[in-house]
Amino acid sequence: MEKQEVFNIHGYPIIVNLKIGKIKAKRFTYNGGMIFISVTPRYRKKDLEKSIEQALPEKTIKKFFSEPYIGDDYIYITGKKHHLVVLEEGGVRNKMDDYVFKKRSDIRKELRKIAYDIYLLEIRKIEKEMGIRKPHTLKVTKMTAAVGKHYKQKNMITLDESLIHYSLSIIDSVVTHELCHYYYQDHSANFYDLLLRYCPDYKELKKKLTYGVRR
Ligand SMILES: [Zn+2]
Repeated sequence: MEKQEVFNIHGYPIIVNLKIGKIKAKRFTYNGGMIFISVTPRYRKKDLEKSIEQALPEKTIKKFFSEPYIGDDYIYITGKKHHLVVLEEGGVRNKMDDYVFKKRSDIRKELRKIAYDIYLLEIRKIEKEMGIRKPHTLKVTKMTAAVGKHYKQKNMITLDESLIHYSLSIIDSVVTHELCHYYYQDHSANFYDLLLRYCPDYKELKKKLTYGVRR
């Protein structure tokens, strides 16, 4: 059996993927801000938190939480950390999935285009699943109060540009939320029934978004 739980590690909320089964010793790996750990059914959360804290120094956790979406030589796109190549800085593409930009000052504008294409594909896919026949228009922008907004009259969705750094399942959870507003313009019980029908992991995915866990 596998489940996800939020642990408190050095005061930071960390998503822990627990694999519960018959094992002799606790084993764990730390990858991209998530912890994967194998435990027996009799595990105790407090003890696990303690042993994780002993194995992972606070500065490792802190580094992850303060790691920007875009660094000197990397960029998070759909939850994956890619090599970032900036040609004006003498960067050279060496892998197919490298992200190549001419100038560092182009990145944000180019990223919006990349985000637009990816978000639109997800919107069309989920519209189809939900039986929405009137395709929405999309605007990608920097949002502050929320990560998405649905405009019933305009049949339009706006999505935050920084969602592009998160996994497709996290992006989908936001898209599904906004598309549920096509049917319900509030956050009523009916709204959440519909949302959880099309996105059963909504709560977990929202938590990841809140905590900056990118995949
Ligand atoms: Zn809403």
